[in-house]
Order: sequence, then C-alpha cells, then structure tokens
Amino acid sequence: MARRKVIAGNWKMNKTASEGTALIQGIKETCGCNGQCACSGPEVIVCPPFTTIAAVLDAVKGTPIQVGAQNVHWAESGAFTGEISAAMLKELGVQWVIIGHSERRQYFGETDQTVNQRVKAALAAGLKVILCIGETLEEREMGVTSAVIEKQVRWDLAGVAADQLDNLILAYEPVWAIGTGKVATDEQAQEVHAGIRALLAKLYCPKCADAVRILYGGSMKPANAAGLLAQPDIDGGLIGGAALKPADFVALVTAAL
Ligand code: PEP
Repeated sequence: MARRKVIAGNWKMNKTASEGTALIQGIKETCGCNGQCACSGPEVIVCPPFTTIAAVLDAVKGTPIQVGAQNVHWAESGAFTGEISAAMLKELGVQWVIIGHSERRQYFGETDQTVNQRVKAALAAGLKVILCIGETLEEREMGVTSAVIEKQVRWDLAGVAADQLDNLILAYEPVWAIGTGKVATDEQAQEVHAGIRALLAKLYCPKCADAVRILYGGSMKPANAAGLLAQPDIDGGLIGGAALKPADFVALVTAAL
C-alpha cells in the first residue's frame, strides 16, 4: 500500500514564540510556495515547545503545515504541577503530540508504562500521536535491538485498538543516533522498520501494519535523507537539529516528495 510520507520537526527546547514565528516564516520563504508543497507531498508537522505553540499555530495559518506538542499528560486535569493535558492542547488547535521521546525516557524518568498512559489519553482526546521507540548504543552492541523494540511496542501500545492506529505514527529513533551526527545506515534502519511492521502485523493484522507510517529519527539531514527515505518501510523522518534550519527542513520535505 502507498503510505503518504511524513516529515516532522521536533524543535525540543528551542525557539521562543517570536523565534518560532520567524522559523516558520523562513520555511515558507525558503520553499517559495508558502508551505503549499506539503499539500501534494509529505505531511509536514512542526512540534515547538508548549509556550511557542500558539504563535506557530498562527504563523502556519493558510498553509498545510500541522502543529504538534512534544509531550502530554494522561490525566484530564488535577494536581500535576508543570504538566499539560490533552484537552489543553486540543483547545489550542494542536493536532499531534510526540510521546516517549528518548530524551523524556532518559532525563525525565519516562517508562513504557507512562508512555502507554500518555498514548491512550492522547488518542482518546482526539490527538494524533508520534510514538518514539529505539534502542541505546549498549543495547545495540549487546545484540538485543529487536527485543528492546518489541518490548517497547508491546508495552507502549497495550490497550490501543486496531482502529486507533489510523491516528498513530511510530518513530524509530536509535538513541545513539539522536543529536550525535551518527546516523543509522539505510540497511540498519530498514531492518528495524521491517521488524516493527512485522510485529504490528502479529499484534494487529497485516493490513493494519501495512497502513501504519514508521518514521526514522536520528541525525537525518538533507545529505543522508534520500537513502533512508528510499527504503520500503521508512515512511519519513522525525527531525531534530535540521528542523531548526529552514533550508535543511525544506530540503528534507523536498526529499520526501
Ligand atoms: C530527535 O530529537 O527526535 C532527533 C531525531 O534529533 P536529531 O535529528 O537532532 O538527531
């Protein structure tokens, strides 16, 4: 089945509201079509920090660029200082949310259990999810990559029904490739992506697995994107560093056309 490609930018803790507006302006100017290339080509999503979301939603008006958050809490409301609920994001006009990014797992104690709670709450509230999974360098060197990925997929998607997969994208992000300049080879990435799809076929059904988009993330840049995006099971990229540079981000969108 032909899956529409996706280029999603994870801005991490970068860009104030005014800087975010300028970045969107830069993207619109660089692509020369006010972001319209995202109409006929890949889905384009940008995920700014919470405080920059409103300004970015305003800046992307009239373009097909979609906006996501970088995290969401699972409770509807309550005594969870510093957290943001799905309803808060929905009311702002946010369409997507990244969940389970390795930096959340590594630095903020995120576990497969809390990732699963966030995924279920986001989907129930009508947000679309970009669920991140990936092995550490140590795990890859120990030869347990596929076991780690399988555990993450099983736990993170526990209780998620097949018909909810329409609103979910997986992002395979080897932790050792994130922000390091070290990119997985096309073959390494394809092997894991194919394994994820086979697992989804087992957990859900072959047709459901065939429809799910699986992005690669980890030092994807214009120079290495073509080979990765040409792989049969790689449906786009989750982009960190290169999403902060209009020329690079637009080049990645173009590479996915
Ligand atoms: C990311 O943070 O999801 C990411 C892939 O970062 P980078 O592209 O900078 O490696």
